[in-house]
Formats: sequence, structure tokens, C-alpha cells
Amino acid sequence: MQMIDFRSDTVTRPTTAMLKVMNAAELGDDVFDDDPTVDRLEALVAETLGKESSMFVPSGTQSNLAALMTHCARGDEYIVGQQAHTYLFEGGGGATLGGIQPQPIDQEPDGTLDLGKLAKLIKPDDYHYARTRLLCLENTTWGKVLPQEYLAKAKAFANEHGLALHLDGARIFNAAVEQEVSAAEIAAPFDSVSVCLSKGLGCPIGSVLAGSADFVKEARRWRKMLGGGMRQSGILAAAGIHALENHVDRLAEDHANASLLADGLAAIEGIDIGSAQTNMVFPNITEHKITGLAEHLKQHGILIMDPIAGSLRLVTHLDVDASDIRTAIEVFSEYLG
Ligand SMILES: *Cc1c(COP(=O)(O)O)cnc(C)c1O
Repeated sequence: MQMIDFRSDTVTRPTTAMLKVMNAAELGDDVFDDDPTVDRLEALVAETLGKESSMFVPSGTQSNLAALMTHCARGDEYIVGQQAHTYLFEGGGGATLGGIQPQPIDQEPDGTLDLGKLAKLIKPDDYHYARTRLLCLENTTWGKVLPQEYLAKAKAFANEHGLALHLDGARIFNAAVEQEVSAAEIAAPFDSVSVCLSKGLGCPIGSVLAGSADFVKEARRWRKMLGGGMRQSGILAAAGIHALENHVDRLAEDHANASLLADGLAAIEGIDIGSAQTNMVFPNITEHKITGLAEHLKQHGILIMDPIAGSLRLVTHLDVDASDIRTAIEVFSEYLG
């Protein structure tokens, strides 16, 4: 049975067209800097994000870590959302491998970090304190799009306080499509931007870190040290190029499917739900109903991640279509109704 998989947008399988371009990719050895397909991908991402340069990396985690280590030295500090992936879900790599202290702060309900609160967290220039060097934002964050005006304010704030500004833009294209702006407009205020190819864009592997030529040159040293130097990686870069050319505009379908799912679930008694956030839906389900839900869904061909504190996260992507959404609503309704 073909499962309907809502666990994440990372679960997509390469399409036949993607496999075809991967198979035909012109290859070299990227550690020797002579893989033409990786070069093409890096040029394409740099251009798409309006940055001078970019580098292809195996994962978003490595991309964010290389960015942290390029912006900050041992004993420096970065400010980051308490609910942000970089702080919460990357194993504490900045602290462990970079000697960089995180200064987490709760995200506001709209996903932003309150700049007034941030100002109080910046340490004075005094040897009792770590040196605050970097502000790290995430867009989309838990499916939410950060408002463009906020990004401009964050940039002014970073300038005022002498901080570098990094974007974990794992899902920057979801944010772009949702707002009908270019990814470059979102990336513009940031010194560095990390983008995942392996989420909604549908690649099997890969992320890209973009920034100035000097920044990326330095980040490449960290990538090598972190074990991210890859050889005939053009085979993966080809998938990335294909995804950027074919899978960006279609993210609107994922957002429409998430809305369809949110509306369908909202009509079921026992489910409490806000609106869909880009390609994510976060239903809250009555406690006594949630036990056994995942198992019931699985028996009916639907995969979800285990609920956290009564809250589910359902993610739409390339391998889920509108008819899958209708099936899912029926199965949820059957169990909860
Ligand atoms: C998935 C994700 C990452 C990291 O990606 P991996 O490739 O899984 O290491 C970083 N940030 C956000 C917001 C993500 O969703």
C-alpha cells in the first residue's frame, strides 16, 4: 500500500524526471573543485538568493553549523529562537563543535523574535560576558512566514548592534511562494542564508549556504572540517537544479492542500485547529482520543509523527495530493467521530 505520509516534507522520493537528470549529470570531484554540476547549482542558488556565492552541503544542520562557525569564534554568542531548529534540533552543534554560546529567546506567536527583548540580551563589551556576534532567524518557522517589514527591522537592529544576521531558510521558498515575493527579497537583509533542497523541493539530499564570496570561502573550510566535502556530488546537485527549476512554484499546491486539510479537520468534533501555516497543520486533539490515533491512521495507510503534548504536526508535500487529503479527513473523522 502507498502510504500517505504527513510526517515531514523530507519524506518525498525523487520523481522520474529528477532521477533522469541525476543520471545524466556531468560529474567531477567537488573536493578538487571540478564538478561542473555542483558549480552550476551553486551559481544558480547564489543568483536566486541575490548573494555573491554559495556552497552545496549534505544537510541543513551542517549548513547552519558552518554558518555559525564562520560568523562566530570560540567564546562568542549567537541569539536564536528557543523554538528554532538551529537551537533545538541540531544537537547543540554550535556549542559542542564551535564553542559558541547560544542565547535562546522565546519566539513570539507570529514566529518573530521581539527586538525590544533582544536588545536587553546583547552583552556589554566586558570580559565577564561572551561576545554577542550573531542573530539567527528562521523563515518559515513552524510553518509561519516572517513578515517582510520585520526582516527589515531586524536588519536595522543587527546593524545598530554590530551583529551579523543569518537566516535558517530551510523553507525560504515556501515563504516566498506564500507571500508572492522572490526568495532574493527575503534573503536580502541577511549576511548568510541556508536553504534546504531536501524538504518541499523534493530532493533526496542537500542544502545550500549562501552569502558573500568571502563568507562562503571561509565556510568551505568549516564544511571540509565537518566532513561535508563531497566528491561526485554533481549527481545530487543535478537534483537540486531540477528542483529549483520545477518544484518552487508548485509549493502553492502544498499550501492549498494544507488549507484543505485544516478546513476538513476543523469540522471534526474533538479537533481544535488554527489555520494552516504554509504547508503545515497543527491540530490539537482531545487527550483521551489521541492514544491509538497514530496506530489507527497507520492501519489505514496514513503516517504521522507521534503527537507532542496533545499537538500533531501534519506536513504536506510533493507526494501528497488533494485526493490523499480527502482520504485523510475521512480516516480522522472515522476515528474521532
Ligand atoms: C530540516 C530543517 C533544518 C535542517 O535540515 P537537515 O537537512 O535535516 O539537517 C534546519 N532548519 C529547519 C527550520 C529545518 O526544518
